[in-house]
Amino acid sequence: MVLDTVTLRVAFGVVALTLFPLFYLVTYRRTRSAYSGWWCTAIALFIAGCFAYLLNGTVHQVWANPLANVLTVLGAGSVCAGARSLRAAASGARRSGALRRGTWQLVAGPAVVVAIASALDNPATNHWSGGPYFLAMMSLLIGLSSVEVWRLQPDDTRVQRPMAMAAGTVAVYYLGRCVTFIIDGPQGPVFRTVFGSAQTTLLTMMLLVVVSFSMAALSNEQVTRELRASAIRDGLTGLLNRSGFLHLAAEEMRRLDKAGVPGALILADLDHFKAVNDRYGHAAGDQSLRAFAAACTATIRSTDLVGRYGGEEFVLLLPGAGTDQAEAIARQISHSLEGVQAPAGFPLPTVSYGIAPLGSGDLNAVIAAADVALYEAKAQGRNRVVLAG
Ligand code: GH3
Ligand code: MG
Ligand code: MG
Repeated sequence: MVLDTVTLRVAFGVVALTLFPLFYLVTYRRTRSAYSGWWCTAIALFIAGCFAYLLNGTVHQVWANPLANVLTVLGAGSVCAGARSLRAAASGARRSGALRRGTWQLVAGPAVVVAIASALDNPATNHWSGGPYFLAMMSLLIGLSSVEVWRLQPDDTRVQRPMAMAAGTVAVYYLGRCVTFIIDGPQGPVFRTVFGSAQTTLLTMMLLVVVSFSMAALSNEQVTRELRASAIRDGLTGLLNRSGFLHLAAEEMRRLDKAGVPGALILADLDHFKAVNDRYGHAAGDQSLRAFAAACTATIRSTDLVGRYGGEEFVLLLPGAGTDQAEAIARQISHSLEGVQAPAGFPLPTVSYGIAPLGSGDLNAVIAAADVALYEAKAQGRNRVVLAG
């Protein structure tokens, strides 16, 4: 069987051209994630490189071959940048900044090396101008991509392994090409039968399919994760919503109960909130709700839970806290709210709190007890904390 390079390149170009709009519309437009953006860029560059290589052997090869080398290496650089952006997204903010900083050098550096090497290597007559540099950079960039993807945590994504392995195979193959090119030359028997352009085009087609499929799966995972996260959040305040809070609080209470650790629950209700809406408008009311939510998150510990229970009512679960500590926290929240200057110049409402110890282990009973205490706080004149019982 003789593999024909030109035919395979046309096939690669057609497959990639079909894939590009599909991937752009179905995957990139949905998430606009950095990794799928880089992969779109990579596909576009591979297409352009592939078509430029079709001019090999014509009078245009003097510029087309070096250009094709550069476009293909830029494509590999984009693959690498995409892999790094994946890891940047999965890692913490500080690490992610460091990972993003080197990206442009990573994409441009190898391309410049290959551009110079190809231009100086008789591109008018030499079909393989800049060959060893091109092959070495391809191996390096795709190898780096494989390592980046391999280093993702398995729970970041399920497609980590196939993607890393596909990239790793192509990187090793390019390394083999590079070594054989240097030892055997492009006309040598090993290079022609194992590492020729036709075989490479076939392998790159495999990479194209595996990575595109994996990227699509990855984007789906991302959308699902975001949906799951937003399903338990309140859109206005960013706090847990009622069902999100109840679910997590019940889980936490079971854990505390088992460990014999105490805890307290606070129910908070903004005072005369309807008057804020009536007097200053609904937007001012929303602003008050956000200010209270911010005061809560600024005051509590990372292990505490806070949710919007409904309307202008909020609920906090404080593991390990006694009712006196919970009372201090409620006062601190109100104190920090007093310090907030509402932009529109209206006074932020005061807050009433009802506090109950976790005790029995039944969340509904604890909330009911805190609600009775809250009612009492309202009855006593508002802007105060009342303990249950
Ligand atoms: P009290 O001190 O007894 O709690 O009086 P209140 O006015 O705070 O309580 P009431 O239950 O009479 O009014 C609550 C108001 O909260 C009525 C409702 O329009 C308003 N509200 C509920 N959700 C939102 C919201 O998301 N945004 C705004 N701006 N207002 C809301
Ligand atoms: Mg109220
Ligand atoms: Mg209320």
